[in-house]
Amino acid sequence: MKAFVMKEIGSVGFMDKPIPRPGPDDAIVRTTRALICTSDSHTVHGGIGPRQNLTLGHEAVGVVHEVGSQVKNFQPGDRVVVGAITPDWGSPAAQSGHPSQSGGPLGGWKFSNTKDGVFAGYFHVNEADANMAKIPATVPDDMAVYCADMLSTGFMGAEKGNIPIGGTVAVIAQGPVGLMATAGARLRGAGLIIGVESVPARQKLAETYGADEIVDFSREDVTERVLELTDGEGVDTAIEALGADQTFQTAVKITKPGGTVSDTGYFGEGEFVHIPRVDWGVGMAEKTIATGLCPGGRLRLERLLRVLETKRVDPTLMTTHTFAFGDMAEAFRVFDEKLDGVVKPLITF
Ligand code: ZN
Repeated sequence: MKAFVMKEIGSVGFMDKPIPRPGPDDAIVRTTRALICTSDSHTVHGGIGPRQNLTLGHEAVGVVHEVGSQVKNFQPGDRVVVGAITPDWGSPAAQSGHPSQSGGPLGGWKFSNTKDGVFAGYFHVNEADANMAKIPATVPDDMAVYCADMLSTGFMGAEKGNIPIGGTVAVIAQGPVGLMATAGARLRGAGLIIGVESVPARQKLAETYGADEIVDFSREDVTERVLELTDGEGVDTAIEALGADQTFQTAVKITKPGGTVSDTGYFGEGEFVHIPRVDWGVGMAEKTIATGLCPGGRLRLERLLRVLETKRVDPTLMTTHTFAFGDMAEAFRVFDEKLDGVVKPLITF
């Protein structure tokens, strides 16, 4: 089969690999749709260290090709979405309620990290019964593929943000995860959602997904503006969806005492992330900092699919580009260099 790989840091391309085989609990999925993610760019640029000929990608849907002898819930021919994070459910971390951290920090992240990813004709799924879900007939692949990471991570920002019904929320950065955090805040019943973003097309998407106010950081001071919009109080929940020291500090500043800073961002640079001491209430203002890595698992995926089935959110509005798998190199270039207003490129197989 054809696989799109990271040959070494900074270099990508196609290579031939054998179709993987399942262990007793595993499945092999024939890929039908995939999405490129910012994490793929980080990986190629050395974010997780050197890798050789590692198949990229962790967001995909497909059709079950083969299952191991112990798999009970799936059979060949089933249309499935697979979580970007595929935990070992028997691990101590999973048993204590933190499956994304199974096998060590972020250990549930296997695709394109500790094993080959999904940018290939076929890919391997560990613990298939627990790590994938059947796609309802009314949900197209183009839509279901967003459950793998974008819906799960974005909604996690809203869930861990502990948004009170009618509460105030700011979502910093309206990339695909921030947009789904915005949609998640609306689903959670926020009373005021502030989207922080400077790109007009993304501002518009943020409004479509539920932002009541847009703050353009290129034109105004985010902290000042958010305080103004909340009568000087700050928000109940600030969701950081970029992963930068400065925006993290802003999130701490704009969160009211007792509120939650909920992080979905990947902090890929610098040795430290700084907490502004005074705005943090010198450590005593009961501002919670919540973090997490894209929750995986069949039940999670089934809940996300239900949101799509009932048409509460349409993530396909984020699909700005579509490429055939054969044009993956061009797709990756467009995404990596952020050309042509790209938000999410969909890959068809
Ligand atoms: Zn992703």
